[in-house]
Amino acid sequence: MPNLLLKNASFISLMDDHGTELSDSSIYCENGIIKEIGKEIHLPKKIDRTINLEGMIVIPGLVNTHHHLFQNLTRVYSNAQNHTLFNWLKCLYPIWKNLSPEHVFSAVIIGLSELALSGCTTSSDHQYLFPGGSKLDDCIIAAEKTGVRFHATRGSMSIGESKGGLPPDEITENEDDILYDCERVINRYNNPEKYSMLRVALAPCSPFSVSQDLMKDTAILARSKNVGLHTHLAENVEDIEYSEQNFGMRPGDYAESLGWVGKDVWHAHCVQLNNKEIKLFSKSCTGISHCPTSNMRLGSGIAPIRFMINEGVNIGLGVDGSSSNDSGHMLNEVRQTMLLQRVKNGPEAMTARESLKLATRGGAKVLNRDDIGQISPGYAADFAIFDTRSIDFAGALSDPIASLVFCGPIKTSYTIVNGKIIVEKGNFVKFDLINEIEKHNKLSKQLINI
Ligand code: ZN
Repeated sequence: MPNLLLKNASFISLMDDHGTELSDSSIYCENGIIKEIGKEIHLPKKIDRTINLEGMIVIPGLVNTHHHLFQNLTRVYSNAQNHTLFNWLKCLYPIWKNLSPEHVFSAVIIGLSELALSGCTTSSDHQYLFPGGSKLDDCIIAAEKTGVRFHATRGSMSIGESKGGLPPDEITENEDDILYDCERVINRYNNPEKYSMLRVALAPCSPFSVSQDLMKDTAILARSKNVGLHTHLAENVEDIEYSEQNFGMRPGDYAESLGWVGKDVWHAHCVQLNNKEIKLFSKSCTGISHCPTSNMRLGSGIAPIRFMINEGVNIGLGVDGSSSNDSGHMLNEVRQTMLLQRVKNGPEAMTARESLKLATRGGAKVLNRDDIGQISPGYAADFAIFDTRSIDFAGALSDPIASLVFCGPIKTSYTIVNGKIIVEKGNFVKFDLINEIEKHNKLSKQLINI
């Protein structure tokens, strides 16, 4: 693999243990791995690619811990703009049941490209319905084309309306088939190695769409294969009511009773966890994916992230699906996280740097990775690079790193994953994005029948 020199960056936030920030320094990478950082570095005679980063800010690539990329096809769907979670889902299920492999493929292509342009270099995706012969494989093949580091999660729904669940029966699957396919995709695709570009985790959709048995069996399978576990939990008050009515306990206790706490588990949202449940998550090292825009969009509430951090919970950030965020802008999610905690607890509740740390170090920890999320020798060469000479930063250069968060949303000039450039001079370069957007819009119109 070619080597790469990022030369004379004006500002670098390493996101290392000391919060080091450098000025006018360079980063040298070989084989997709960071080798050396500093003002004076040792370089080989031949450098394959040098990028001059004068005027630029470099941060570690952002890590997105929760998404449903297929929802890109139903962004801003008019009948689902003003609902809380359960009614929002009921509006969209009848459309999603007509998804085909082509739809899913296109949504992943577009969704990951958009994320890359916002500085995201690693993304998780929670695919939990498989109509029209679509498979997790469609997501994985599309993700490989984008060059984004990918954590595919094999989701599932098995309790349809006829059994008291939320989704229509026709988009649920038989539980034996689910477990069989979970094992298949792990065996076929999961790469547990350091610097892996593709990992697989298992992800029943939510307590209101799968059985207790499937939650337990999925956890047993995931642990036998040493892969992660992911689901939605305690998203809003309806979610809490469903848990109390159907399981006789709150979501945190329910998760614990099923074996769904631990270092290998990360739950999306957790807006309505109480203090006892937060302490349980802290003690058990269970991760949380905080998705502030989606929580605001659906009126789910404000997750107590400040309190959770103080209690030592592992927190990463997520954009959540494109039908409840409508934007896949990871840096904007960093901004929303900072602002929303201030709404709850005042302006000292969260700094720009703390919020950036959640989206880098925090996300890496939630996904159980020790090779991404910071710029240090031995870490993956994943970078988000922004040009301070753009209008977004005009007048904001007293603190360029903080301005990334305060002045957002801003797009990258360069996004680099595994030492390879996927966004260059503000353009996505892996394929003709304009062409893919045209295809995507055709598929979206056809799907929602307009
Ligand atoms: Zn979600």
